[in-house]
Amino acid sequence: MRFLVLGGDAAGMTAASHVRRAVPEAEVVIVERGRHTSYSMCGIPNYIGEEIEDAQDLVVRSPEEFRALGMAVHLETEALAVSASDRTVRVRDLRNGDERDERYDALLYAVGAHPFMPDVPGLAQYGRVVHTLDEGERVRTELDRRQREAEGKVRVVVVGAGYIGLEIAEALVRRGMDATIVDLATQVMASLDPDMAAHVLATLEEFGVKVRLGEALREVRGVDAAEGESGSPRRICTEVVTDADTYPADLLVVATGARPSIAMARDAGCKVGDSGALVVDDHMRTSVQGIWAAGDCVESVDLVSGGKVNVQLGTHANKQGKVAGIDIAATLRGQEPGDAAFPGVVGTAVTKLCHLEIARTGLTEAQATRAGIDHAATLFTATAKAGYLPDPGKVFVKMLAERGTGRVLGAQLIGSPNVAKRIDTAATWCMLGVTVQRAQFLDLSYAPPFGGVWDVLQVAARKLVRELSLSPAL
Ligand SMILES: Cc1cc2nc3c(=O)[nH]c(=O)nc-3n(C[C@H](O)[C@H](O)[C@H](O)COP(=O)(O)OP(=O)(O)OC[C@H]3O[C@@H](n4cnc5c(N)ncnc54)[C@H](O)[C@@H]3O)c2cc1C
Repeated sequence: MRFLVLGGDAAGMTAASHVRRAVPEAEVVIVERGRHTSYSMCGIPNYIGEEIEDAQDLVVRSPEEFRALGMAVHLETEALAVSASDRTVRVRDLRNGDERDERYDALLYAVGAHPFMPDVPGLAQYGRVVHTLDEGERVRTELDRRQREAEGKVRVVVVGAGYIGLEIAEALVRRGMDATIVDLATQVMASLDPDMAAHVLATLEEFGVKVRLGEALREVRGVDAAEGESGSPRRICTEVVTDADTYPADLLVVATGARPSIAMARDAGCKVGDSGALVVDDHMRTSVQGIWAAGDCVESVDLVSGGKVNVQLGTHANKQGKVAGIDIAATLRGQEPGDAAFPGVVGTAVTKLCHLEIARTGLTEAQATRAGIDHAATLFTATAKAGYLPDPGKVFVKMLAERGTGRVLGAQLIGSPNVAKRIDTAATWCMLGVTVQRAQFLDLSYAPPFGGVWDVLQVAARKLVRELSLSPAL
């Protein structure tokens, strides 16, 4: 019995570890293009910002540790093509170019997503991405070098004002560098409503990040120095040109989102959904027998709108990897399907920028409108600590509920202190279909250092009950 895993990070190694434990007699083989396994991509901005000195600190479990558990881990080995009829995968050893076929009885396709590169002259040549630890290390090495060489401040342009671009820009300013974010969108963080995103923008600008919104990238200019990584020329960015301005730059980071990496699975016959990601059932089985998929490359059910979405988050990749591992272990043993099922997502996400904790779950107003859900929203400012305590801080609260039923559709919280993890309560409401009428009475905790007698989410629920003319209105 041979279990082959393509992609050695969150989803892949979670499944591999489960199968290793549950089916000790199975051969578990991992094919990973990079030099690391099981690392935290989420910590890359902290590493780039020198908060973490050694990239190895982001590695949760090294290839040697997995090998010690009896798995075969092939690093710097790229999967090229899957043949579902032969149950083989063509792979290439990137160190010497040798190709071979790896056989499987069960295959987990967990190669994640790849950075989206807009078609702009010079962008692919001179832009750097931070989508794997190897790439994060290359950006950090180049930044360190530029800092040693530069006479003034190192100037970095970050294209893309999503959470990754913003986290990196903040980290660069913390390092004393000059960071400019450029985005075609007219707001930062498209995962928030514009009225909430405005608070993020104000804080970043106050911190020293330059943000240029509504600007279209036209060209990236640079020079090719003689020596570079692995004998190729070292490509150095010099200028980033938009339709509004030209920005001198020593380094360009491209953070314009990522697309699910589906090509090999699609070519092997696996169905691709409208979201652009692989279709899987709740046991993470693709439409092709013997092939499972998990993580950033698959689509999930949006439990609020009922649609299918591709949400690229580590939290889902780990759970989906576990579910796939349980089902694959059962299959290898010839047993009934595994009893774990991945239910879907509600888009819960948190981040921290400067002093601001930023959290969201469920649908934004734009998403609710697109899904055709008639809704009302409430928006207000409060504190997430008793107002009479010193430095009570501030929290901006937004919540949406469905007209007629009162079902909680989504929430966004921005502020400090005690803000980010509060979203998990709202996420539970969204996931379980709790109404605002019910939510206002739920038994939530209270003590002055943590909030008011009515939690800010329950204040939002009360406001929505009144707004939607539901009862009981408190
Ligand atoms: C900078 C950054 C910050 C993030 N912060 C957060 C956060 O705070 N919270 C959160 O929940 N999520 C965060 N994420 C997202 C999270 O890291 C991903 O959702 C998660 O890692 C996805 O896991 P995965 O196993 O599906 O894919 P990946 O982690 O991308 O792993 C896929 C692996 O497949 C390998 N691979 C790709 N193609 C091939 C091939 N052809 N052959 C062999 N191997 C291949 C890759 O090298 C990679 O190691 C962040 C992502 C980034 C980039």
